[in-house]
Amino acid sequence: MSDVLSITDLSMKNKKVLMRVDFNVPLNDKQEVTDETRIVSSLPSIKYVLDHGGSLILMSHLGRPKGEKKPEFSLKPVAAKLSILLDHPIIMAPDCIGPEVERLAASLRPGQVLMLENLRFYNAEEKPESDPSFAKKLSKLGDIYINDAFGTAHRAHSSTAVIAKYFPQKAAAGFLMQKEIDSIGKTLFSPKRPFLAIIGGAKISSKVGVIKSLLAKADTLLIGGGMAYTFFKAQGFAIGNSIHEDEMLNEARSILDSVKDHKNKLHLPTDVIAADAMNETAKTVTVNPSKGIPKGFEGVDIGPSTIRDFVAALQTATTVLWNGPLGVFEIPKFSAGTRAIAEAIGRLKATTIVGGGDSIAALQQMGLASTVTHLSTGGGATLEYIEFGTLPGIEALSKK
Ligand code: AMP
Repeated sequence: MSDVLSITDLSMKNKKVLMRVDFNVPLNDKQEVTDETRIVSSLPSIKYVLDHGGSLILMSHLGRPKGEKKPEFSLKPVAAKLSILLDHPIIMAPDCIGPEVERLAASLRPGQVLMLENLRFYNAEEKPESDPSFAKKLSKLGDIYINDAFGTAHRAHSSTAVIAKYFPQKAAAGFLMQKEIDSIGKTLFSPKRPFLAIIGGAKISSKVGVIKSLLAKADTLLIGGGMAYTFFKAQGFAIGNSIHEDEMLNEARSILDSVKDHKNKLHLPTDVIAADAMNETAKTVTVNPSKGIPKGFEGVDIGPSTIRDFVAALQTATTVLWNGPLGVFEIPKFSAGTRAIAEAIGRLKATTIVGGGDSIAALQQMGLASTVTHLSTGGGATLEYIEFGTLPGIEALSKK
């Protein structure tokens, strides 16, 4: 685990604080922010700088403008939203680098906030090697660098990793980043055992790294959701129309092979709900996957005996990680498995970490979000952090 410098380790007084945030929020066609969660998540770091005598230069990406200055990807509406949430004026920069931006940054007084324009208006943000001067130009704007963008910390981009080298002993984690490092790092890298992980979601390919890593780290791994069907097919079971990835069959076989001498290490569903259509009026059957899913049907949720097995396993755990829904939970008829697991996790006394938008949404829908120890906001960053034990955006920060 990285023991990196934290925002509270540095003096903010009269400093220009350059802060990378993740303000990649959804906008509607009227350019209004429709979900402000990510902005709200960075408010503690933002307020800390302003309350401690610093001025703030915020930088973020928004969407995928692919190196072009497209107005629909401007951070202006985000700055407007931040201004309301913070109850504080925000100066909007016309760009993220260049003489005008340097002038605006240089003239900031303590307590003032400057929001830079979308970093991804430049290709060098995502491809630092294409223009190393981009990170350097950004770095010139501030005296201190804070990274509070955990959601993009798995990318070695100009503003998340490369830039930190221009701030020796002055590159620190913001509160949001620090919370993720503490919660995931401290809890999962030396977990109180038994440590149980549940992984769901559509595809095995996006989570194969974390699955292998969890097989090494966790005492028990429960797998549900769409990715289970690749494991079923790998064992020669008929899977009907179920979602699966043929190119991952060998990988699935090798994972199954690696646990064959470890009874109870890996649990796959022992029954599934299969449907003849992806809608509320579909006909459904409960099947044991080893008996095969009938033609014309596809697996959409874990079945009742799997729920019992997974919930019983959960009761024995001291540390629990959950990522990914156990079925097509967006359709209420196929959400029972995900709901049952969310509820069981919400009621556990164990240390519980939940990552991924869908799992968090399921907990929120059930009013159980506050019952888990840590909701990780990261998505891909969370999974890669668990897999590799660090991330480029964390590695780049100054060590304590
Ligand atoms: P992920 O982003 O990989 O965590 O996947 C989340 C998506 O997986 C959700 O949109 C679910 O609807 C989908 N999903 C879960 N189980 C299944 C399934 N059995 N068949 C198809 N999609 C599924």
